[in-house]
Amino acid sequence: MAAQETVDHKYVYDFSEGNKDLKDLLGGKGANLAEMTNLGLPVPPGFTITTEACQAYLTTGREPDGLAGQIEKHLESLESAMGKRLGDPQDPLLVSVRSGAKFSMPGMMETVLNVGLNDQSVVGLSAQAGGNDRFAWDSYRRLIQMFGKTVCEVPGEEFEHALDEAKNAKGTSNDLDLDADDLRRLVDAYKKIFVKHTGREFPQQPREQLDLAIRAVFESWNAERAVLYRRQERIPADLGTAVNVVSMVFGNLGPDSGTGVAFTRDPGSGAQGIYGDYLANAQGEDVVAGIRNTVPLQELEQLDKSSYDELLGIMARLEEHYKDLCDIEFTIERGKLWMLQTRVGKRTAAAAFVIAGQLVDEGLIDLDEALHRVNGAQLAQLMFPRFQLDHEFQPVAKGIGASPGAASGTVVFTSARAVELAAEGRSVILVRRETNPDDLNGMIAAKGILTSRGGKTSHAAVVARGMGKTCVSGADEIDVNVPAKRFTVAGQTVNEGDVVSIDGTTGKVYLGEVPVMPSEVVQYFEGSLDPEHIDNALVRAVHRIMTHADGKRRLAVRTNADTGADAARARRFGAEGIGLCRTEHMFLGDRRELVERLILARAPGEREAALEALLPLQRADFEEIFREMDGLPVTVRLIDPPLHEFLPPLEQLAVNVAVAQERGEDVAKEEALLAAVRRMHEENPMLGLRGVRLGLVIPGLFAMQVRAIAEAAVTCARQGRVAKPEIMVPLVGAVQELETVRAEAEKIIAEVVGDSGVEVLIGTMIEVPRAALTAGQIAEAAEFFSFGTNDLTQMGWGFSRDDVEGAFFWRYLELGIFGISPFESIDRDGVGRLVRIAAEEGRAARPGLKLGVCGEHGGDPDSVHFFHEVGLDYVSCSPFRVPVARLEAGRAVVETGGSDSR
Ligand code: PEP
Ligand code: MG
Repeated sequence: MAAQETVDHKYVYDFSEGNKDLKDLLGGKGANLAEMTNLGLPVPPGFTITTEACQAYLTTGREPDGLAGQIEKHLESLESAMGKRLGDPQDPLLVSVRSGAKFSMPGMMETVLNVGLNDQSVVGLSAQAGGNDRFAWDSYRRLIQMFGKTVCEVPGEEFEHALDEAKNAKGTSNDLDLDADDLRRLVDAYKKIFVKHTGREFPQQPREQLDLAIRAVFESWNAERAVLYRRQERIPADLGTAVNVVSMVFGNLGPDSGTGVAFTRDPGSGAQGIYGDYLANAQGEDVVAGIRNTVPLQELEQLDKSSYDELLGIMARLEEHYKDLCDIEFTIERGKLWMLQTRVGKRTAAAAFVIAGQLVDEGLIDLDEALHRVNGAQLAQLMFPRFQLDHEFQPVAKGIGASPGAASGTVVFTSARAVELAAEGRSVILVRRETNPDDLNGMIAAKGILTSRGGKTSHAAVVARGMGKTCVSGADEIDVNVPAKRFTVAGQTVNEGDVVSIDGTTGKVYLGEVPVMPSEVVQYFEGSLDPEHIDNALVRAVHRIMTHADGKRRLAVRTNADTGADAARARRFGAEGIGLCRTEHMFLGDRRELVERLILARAPGEREAALEALLPLQRADFEEIFREMDGLPVTVRLIDPPLHEFLPPLEQLAVNVAVAQERGEDVAKEEALLAAVRRMHEENPMLGLRGVRLGLVIPGLFAMQVRAIAEAAVTCARQGRVAKPEIMVPLVGAVQELETVRAEAEKIIAEVVGDSGVEVLIGTMIEVPRAALTAGQIAEAAEFFSFGTNDLTQMGWGFSRDDVEGAFFWRYLELGIFGISPFESIDRDGVGRLVRIAAEEGRAARPGLKLGVCGEHGGDPDSVHFFHEVGLDYVSCSPFRVPVARLEAGRAVVETGGSDSR
């Protein structure tokens, strides 16, 4: 039988074999180490074990075939490159074993340093380090400590305790004061701790150390904290981590050695300069553990000018190569600089804009790329007010920034108390261990919500985001005691009635009231900051990128606004018309009485009289809006909600009538009202008599609104303005409904408009699934469609939009049934498909049919991209989200590779 050679799947890559684009396979750290190696930068030699090897290990519980042999081969070439052997008693090669997944998961997974040391090679290491016994024993004790903790799950505190004891015995708090003998004794103590917890001696075979460390890194992918982090950050669970085996370089060889981290620009503000920390005579984990205080990186210039200059040169080179802010980790071993890590660095929302603008100025990227580098979520963050913090205010706890904004208020622990104090006009912060649906009223009343448990998808977080309320969740340093009406944090007690401040962006919690600063980005959008004449890098960058987005985008951006004030504000924010003017609020307040008469009309002529009284009021409403939107289209939606919403609640009315009857009072009027409310009561009002159904049932109601709109437009035209009304019929499910309304409306419009030149379009919302599925027919009677994705989601999923988010969405998010509420971001596969079908079939039936969206999704970044892809003409959203939609509409063009400009 002919021998068949099996070619092993490649699981191990030398640093010289990879590059920065292989993050899926080599993880972020491995891919970037490879990139730096190939750039000729000083990276200690090493190799990367792929994420595929990790995936195979996690699925089968054992290392995949061929992995051990490949590691052996790469180890051999590493040994020959370094001229040292792992475990050589005279001159040992030591390696670090580091995790590195595709997405950075800071501090979530494991690292073991100094692998390869044992009782013999520690002596060789000392000799090689010029007889530096202290260094060799310090390295050995670090290996036992890290290996024990991460590979064998020995409690870390035991090692820390032993280290503290050694320092106490020496009468010092500084680990540098421990000499070689102290450290030798510490190694003995550590070994005993190791035996006590594992039942075996610390492994002396270097290859066994290496294999166990690699396995521990694989397994750390599924450690509880890593799983939790991935869930919060929405990182897929099956990616696995790569493992980097890197020759050790030592920052703890003496004062001419050290270790540090640096950013090529300030990740907080984006400002150019040198940002970093350096710690002499130390290894990387000392910086993280905060064992000694670091010094600002600039001080390295005095300590080691040549390494400092080389480092600055490398940082400039990396920025030029990655064309972005990079962060790095480095070590200096006896005056020789080594790069241990780099990656495109995380940054705040403000820094993202500022840096993108700077990189354009520096000619490293173009404006399209700058637009790609920022996003609407960051812009939205910049539009929230912020705390004005000085060092007087130190956070007492840090949780998860679950819903952005800055809120100060009186602490309350129950929903009822929140409602009570809010009714007195007080700002309150509702503090709970975690919230549940019973807390809803309190959450509505509160200015902000603080919980000690739960992540970004907890009930508190989801509901607060839905309401646009500031929320910090999972601040676990806070110990909440609801019955005692207090919480404790950092040794302090906060009672009901005390004031706290919470930052929903950073997750920080402060005691007392922190002053709030308005957003300068909002001031810019409102026109009170001129980007050309102020020295504000953020405002200038936002201006420049927004201008580019506007030039790029194909989608127009309109606003949802029902008042002149909202319309004016949205226009300043860049709205190009109104996509939804809801008319229902125009029936409230002191007009309620007229509406009651309209609904209850019994005697002949009573309804007509009520409508006649409403007409001039409505006309004035529309005149105001048309005036603000002079020259721009205004979509006015005819009344939508069920009429009983304009009447008093049934239960309350029934009680009032019963009480009044008991007292023998004259209740004829109230009884008539009660009878009407009973008659109109619906079990499922959202599926009942509302929208077009109402218009077809109550004679004259829609006609009055149509007349008011047309008359207001004509008045504006006479005053020299341009009104462009678009009358929109809600809740249409069948073309016949629209045809009926249309026939009546056209007559009125023709009569009112005459030769004034005013043009009025008639169209419909597409918000009932049947309308989406019969869009071809409906388009025959509509000049435009506007997708009501709130109702389309409600009816598409069968989710009551007023109830489900607070009731059970947290559970759906936890289970991953969806990653984000479908009311927040469009469900592309289901509801989105209805939109796509209706857009295609509507346009096929009527080329030039105008298409827009006015549901909440119109201002959601991801949904805006979807609406761009589907080919809508515009999105419409609340005034505050108009800039976000403009930005994302521009990004959608850049990201789909279009050079599309309007
Ligand atoms: C919608 O349903 O998406 C919509 C815009 O209408 P409303 O939210 O008023 O029901
Ligand atoms: Mg609707």
